Amino acid sequence: MAHNGRLTVLTGPSGVGKGTLVKRLLEQHPEIWLSVSATTRDPRAGEEEGVSYFFHPRDTFDALVESGGLLEWAEFASNCYGTPRAPVEQQLAAGRPVLLEIELEGARQVRRSFPDAFQVFLAPPSFTELERRIRGRGTDTEDAIQRRLARASEELNAQNEFDAVVINDDLDQALKQLETHMQLPAD
Ligand code: ADP
Ligand code: 5GP
Repeated sequence: MAHNGRLTVLTGPSGVGKGTLVKRLLEQHPEIWLSVSATTRDPRAGEEEGVSYFFHPRDTFDALVESGGLLEWAEFASNCYGTPRAPVEQQLAAGRPVLLEIELEGARQVRRSFPDAFQVFLAPPSFTELERRIRGRGTDTEDAIQRRLARASEELNAQNEFDAVVINDDLDQALKQLETHMQLPAD
């Protein structure tokens, strides 16, 4: 298949700065297609349906899973998240670089179904800094923060499963490293 685009998976603990980094990446490289996930989580302030996520009630999400409509899916901090399959396949077939920003279990599923995908783990400079960022974002309840921190330890332990680890200390440096891994021209 001569026109197959490259698939990149970006994983990292909640609060490490995935959203911030991806936003910068897309500003610099509008040719990248970012998959919009389905989720059962409630929208945060400022999040838009179809842009941030496709927000679904649990039964709609379950129906998507049943019909094979998701490329991968996982439960994370009491909510379900999944990647709609058809648009990813269409964009790859059209030759575009495709980016998935997903958690660890989903990354593992993609590793099985798309072994050629390049998998990047975004790590914090320290656990203390990660907690500071999650709290600083101010979008989660204490309960959600605790669930995310517990899960963060598990994710950090799985770094060595990935093709590359990028440390998000200085955002510009992290962006440059991600551009290199995605084989994109840096400016
Ligand atoms: P994620 O999408 O991984 O959950 P966010 O992009 O929401 O994380 O970032 C979490 C918080 O950390 C935000 O308040 C963001 O501004 C901040 N942040 C992101 N990258 C950096 C960085 N390199 N240095 C300091 N703070 C950062
Ligand atoms: P948040 O609630 O902070 O937006 O996302 C929580 C976690 O879910 C993050 O680690 C994010 O990468 C992950 N996530 C978002 N979309 C998907 C998806 O489609 N599949 C999987 N497996 N994880 C996702």
